[in-house]
Amino acid sequence: MSIRVLPEQLIHQIAAGEVVERPASVLKELIENSLDAGATQIDIDIEEGGMRRCRVIDNGCGIPRDELTLALARHATSKIGSIEDLERVGTLGFRGEALPSIASVSRMRVVSRTPASDIGYAVSADNGAFSEPAPSPHPVGTSIDVSDLFFNVPARRKFLRSERTEQQHLLRMIERLALSRFEVGFKVTSNRRELASYPAAKRLSDRQQRVAQIMGDEFVAQSLLIEHEAVGCKLWGWLGLPTCARGNADLQYFYLNGRALRDRILMNAVRMGYQDVLFHGRHPAYLLFLEIDPAQVDVNAHPAKLEVRFRDGRLIHDFVFRTIERVLRDTRAGASSAQTAPTQIERILDSPANTSVNASMFWPSRGPMEPPVQHAFGLRESKAAATQIREAVVSSGIEYAGDSMLRQDQAPLGYAIAQLHGVYILSQAPDGLILVDMHAAHERTTYERMKAALQTGPVASQPLLVPIVVNVSAADADLAEEHAELFARTGLTVERSGPAGVRIRSVPALLQQLDPIELLRTLLAELREHGATRGIEEALNEVLGTIACHGAVRANRLLSIPEMNALLREMERTVRSDQCNHGRPTWTYVSMTDLDRLFLRGR
Ligand code: ADP
Ligand code: MG
Repeated sequence: MSIRVLPEQLIHQIAAGEVVERPASVLKELIENSLDAGATQIDIDIEEGGMRRCRVIDNGCGIPRDELTLALARHATSKIGSIEDLERVGTLGFRGEALPSIASVSRMRVVSRTPASDIGYAVSADNGAFSEPAPSPHPVGTSIDVSDLFFNVPARRKFLRSERTEQQHLLRMIERLALSRFEVGFKVTSNRRELASYPAAKRLSDRQQRVAQIMGDEFVAQSLLIEHEAVGCKLWGWLGLPTCARGNADLQYFYLNGRALRDRILMNAVRMGYQDVLFHGRHPAYLLFLEIDPAQVDVNAHPAKLEVRFRDGRLIHDFVFRTIERVLRDTRAGASSAQTAPTQIERILDSPANTSVNASMFWPSRGPMEPPVQHAFGLRESKAAATQIREAVVSSGIEYAGDSMLRQDQAPLGYAIAQLHGVYILSQAPDGLILVDMHAAHERTTYERMKAALQTGPVASQPLLVPIVVNVSAADADLAEEHAELFARTGLTVERSGPAGVRIRSVPALLQQLDPIELLRTLLAELREHGATRGIEEALNEVLGTIACHGAVRANRLLSIPEMNALLREMERTVRSDQCNHGRPTWTYVSMTDLDRLFLRGR
């Protein structure tokens, strides 16, 4: 074939390949245009999962009659005019490619009216042919109607999935956009049926409502509303507690200056922020907004603009990482107002069918959204409560610690009364009761203690009277030898004893009761899986985590009351003691009010 200049329509269709993949991507471009036009209400109507038809109606600034055909032309945009503008783009769009691309693979009709005009004007595009603008009644704003997507590109049509699947994609896309602009209302309908509706949300409670609608009540209850500003950056949003971490990464939303991103640097910063409280395989849930000077970031780095380039990536990374890390570190047991979200408790208690009380449901929701409730409990009430607990405990045959603990004190986690089934510590708190998972709590505090110790040098180690030789595979022996120094820093001294043997000489002094052989085997297994991909810091923390887990008190070990109290005090001192290294809660709290309600007292 000889070289030739491609026809205009074909150029558009090729360009469409980059941005128009399915109905969801069409809608993304149209809705982003509406947002750029300053709309406060966007209505979306679809047919057959958007494949037959997508229509977006907004109340934005509109397009003047004379510019209507231009809007459909390639490289035509009202958003930038110079390279300086490109360097500090504040809008979602700027390439001027979306409308012509979409128009080249569908039938499109645009009707628009500006505030300066009494009437709207319409243009249509069909297979590369544009009509002249014709008067058409329309309120101020723009409607763009896209039908028969890919009618002229059969190959693309084959990639479309079922109506259901396309609709799901499209709804997820709208959710992502709706989370980025609380002040804009969104409504999605299909055949007059409402699929989703997000009313404009100005107050915090309304925003919260939108977050709950999209990310679930559980997420809102188990997240902290954060806001932090420094070095010219601001990070705010909802940070899911480690207790609401998930098996997959489906509840992660990150926006940079209002644009949804899946940027590598930012994702990594968030992951590192959680690294101490979440172990592999668990994914945090979050909804975060980063705001920085647009001049600090180049958004023109990716066709779908999912990745960006930062002028100072290190600075942004550290800001995000440190902010998250600090917030999570402050989730110390009893540190903040450990109040149970009343709405949650009510829901559980008000339904008589729900008799199984799930720990995570009682998990206190903290955060600056509601002022901490001050509970004033007099000594008398507290004594009465204590007597009740004692009677309950005695009559159920659980080991009871005696009256010495029945006093009012300031310890947020209260005083141990008994050990339940060798697993939980029952503690009387100032205004309620607290249950502690002793293994999880001990694991957490040990881990933090070892980490703190590590700051000042290697963790103290206790030599074994008789070194233990462990038979492992040759590969594992190599691995152990290679990581001997890493182990040594955590107090575990190992050396090679043969082609397939490793000798353990000493163990971390904090944890002499652990089984060194089992520990070594677990560590080697973990290194095998992750070793190569992790940095030294991460690997070290992971080794500490595994050691702490192995060293922590196991279920069924009988703890004395002083031992239990010591653990409670240690939890209060330890940062991030609200959850164990695996992100499970370490303790839960039931207030006297909740108990009273449970027993229908005072109603
Ligand atoms: P870009 O968004 O990159 O500028 P588009 O092809 O998406 O390019 O849109 C082209 C132009 O059409 C925009 O720059 C804008 O001026 C105008 N436009 C598109 N949609 C709307 C809308 N809903 N309201 C007002 N103007 C719009
Ligand atoms: Mg656009």
